[in-house]
Amino acid sequence: MKHKKIIFAGIISLLILAGCGTKTNESSATNDSKRLEVVATNSIIADMVKEVGKNKVSVHSIVPVGTDPHEYEPLPEDTKKASAADVVFYNGLNLETGNGWFNKLMETANKKEDKDYFAVSKEVEPIHLTSNSKQEDPHAWLDISNGILYVKQIQSVLSKKDPDNQAEYKKNAEAYIKKLEELDKSAKEEFADIPSEKKLLVTSEGAFKYFSKAYDLTAAYIWEINTESQGTPDQMKQIVEKVRDSKVPSLFVETSVDKRSMERLSKEVDLPIYSDLYTDSLAKKGESGDSYYKMMKWNLDKIHKGLMK
Ligand SMILES: [Zn+2]
Repeated sequence: MKHKKIIFAGIISLLILAGCGTKTNESSATNDSKRLEVVATNSIIADMVKEVGKNKVSVHSIVPVGTDPHEYEPLPEDTKKASAADVVFYNGLNLETGNGWFNKLMETANKKEDKDYFAVSKEVEPIHLTSNSKQEDPHAWLDISNGILYVKQIQSVLSKKDPDNQAEYKKNAEAYIKKLEELDKSAKEEFADIPSEKKLLVTSEGAFKYFSKAYDLTAAYIWEINTESQGTPDQMKQIVEKVRDSKVPSLFVETSVDKRSMERLSKEVDLPIYSDLYTDSLAKKGESGDSYYKMMKWNLDKIHKGLMK
């Protein structure tokens, strides 16, 4: 009798196990249609993730469009989204370090580096700040060839997190990279026309070091990085001298900074601010510059026209 009971219990366990097995299969079938939840620190990275992931991902961008990503105070919603995310992408290279906001957010959300959150700039060769050679300059994406490295990194991480869709991620990334390579190539050809005495790109923040290296310009700026004081008398004096020593015809101002220092410089050196440029944020949806591709095209067109004047 005791023996029979044991056999009976055994059969019941097998039935339970079989039942569980069926249930697991069912839930993974439901998961197939579920999108990968991705959080990106800013609108530029979020846009790249959308290009690679298309309808397989759902993307939340933390820093709002038009806002400086160097220093930021995450909202309760950001913490919630980051905690629930399958993957988090950040720029790295000293971008999200202003008040340590990103590391604090990852700690609160209980996320681990290279397991849950990834730097898209991982393969980029960094340029360092002039004022502090120990610190990296974050603005690598403003050189399209680095933007392409970001896209490849995003593709690699999405494929690891969601191997079922890796062929789709590969196809999307390849088409996107081809478009970016064409833009990069035509810009390099165009920029060769600018007379060398005009090849000075003057902006508020020194965000154009990678860009200037790629398109053969010299970057000049009022302050080097948004985390330092902006528009001090000493900074103004230095930039005025630099501009007066050159034959540069136009100045530029970024959409995500306080414009007053550049307006003061414009009056002081009597040169026009030719155009807005996109550096640390995309444009609002529907405006020109509302994707990485379009912001780069806008920047390249405006800088070329402004310096050819
Ligand atoms: Zn910046």
